[in-house]
Amino acid sequence: MTETRFETVACNLCGSEEHSPLHVIKGYTIVRCNECRLVFINPRPVASELATIYDDGAYYGGGSDFDDLHVGYSNYLALTNHLRFVVDELLRPLKDVTPGVALDVGCSMGVVLDQLRQRGWTPYGVDVSTYATEHARREFGLNVFTGTLDDVDLPPDSVDLVMMLLTIEHLPDPKSVLRQVHRLLKPGGVLIVGTHDIEGLWPRIVGARWRHFSMPEHVYYFSRRTLTRMLADVGLETFRATETATLAGVVDADETNEGFYAPVHLLHKTRLLGPAAPLLRAMHKVARRFDWSDGITTYARKV
Ligand SMILES: [Zn+2]
Repeated sequence: MTETRFETVACNLCGSEEHSPLHVIKGYTIVRCNECRLVFINPRPVASELATIYDDGAYYGGGSDFDDLHVGYSNYLALTNHLRFVVDELLRPLKDVTPGVALDVGCSMGVVLDQLRQRGWTPYGVDVSTYATEHARREFGLNVFTGTLDDVDLPPDSVDLVMMLLTIEHLPDPKSVLRQVHRLLKPGGVLIVGTHDIEGLWPRIVGARWRHFSMPEHVYYFSRRTLTRMLADVGLETFRATETATLAGVVDADETNEGFYAPVHLLHKTRLLGPAAPLLRAMHKVARRFDWSDGITTYARKV
C-alpha cells in the first residue's frame, strides 16, 4: 500500500485557521473551528486520495470496512424498498411542487434517482465513483455524470430540486459544491441536504465513540447551525429542518443502528416502517425540537 499524502486545511465555512482538537480517532485528528464551530478532520488525506475510497466495489457491498453504506446485491430489494419510503418522506413537504428536473449529488448506484423518476421527476445524478455510476447507467438507464459538479453538463438556473443525502460530509470542499448547486438551481429551486448532526444529544453523550466518526470518509461534521450558515453564505435560505434523510443510513446493518435509530431499525426490519410513518414524523418533530438525535435534514431555497 502506498503512503497516504496529507494536507492541512483552513475552515471551509469561515476561513479561520484557528481550531482546537476535539478527538483523535484511528490516528486522525478531528478539530473544531474556534470561530464558527465547524468540525472537520485536520490534517486529512488529499482530495484525490479521498476519492479513491469510492472506486472500490467493496464499499458498496456488505463486506467492506466502510460501514455507512451497506449497498449490496444480496439485499438490493430491501434497500430499494427502504429508499422508496425515504424518498416519499423527503418529498412530502414538497407535495405542492410540480415535478421537474432533479439532480442527486452523490447519487451512488442510482436507487434514489430511479425512485424520483417513478414519481415524475426528470432525474440526473453525479457521483465521484466510476463503479457506482456505471451501475446507475447499466441497471437503471439513468443520466448520471461521473466526477464532481464540474463534470455536470446542465445549464445554470435549470434544476428544480437538488438532493444531497449523506453526501456533504464526504466532500473535500462542501462550500464550493454548494455554490455550484446554487448556480444550477432555478430561482426558487430547492436543495434537500441530509447529514449527521454532531451537536445532537447522542454524539454529546457518546463522544469519540459516535458511530459517524468514520475515518477518513467523513471529512466534515456539521451541526444545524454550521450547515444553515454555510447554506446562507452561498445564497440558499433554509426553510425547514427534519431528520428524514438520515433514515437512508438505516439499512440492514445492526451495528450501525444504535441510539436514536434503534427503534427505527427495528421497524425497518419488521417491515412496519411504512405503517409507522406518522409516528416517525411525530418523533422527528420532538427530536428536532430538543436536539435529541444525531441527524439533520435541511430544506433550503435559492433566493
Ligand atoms: Zn470556521
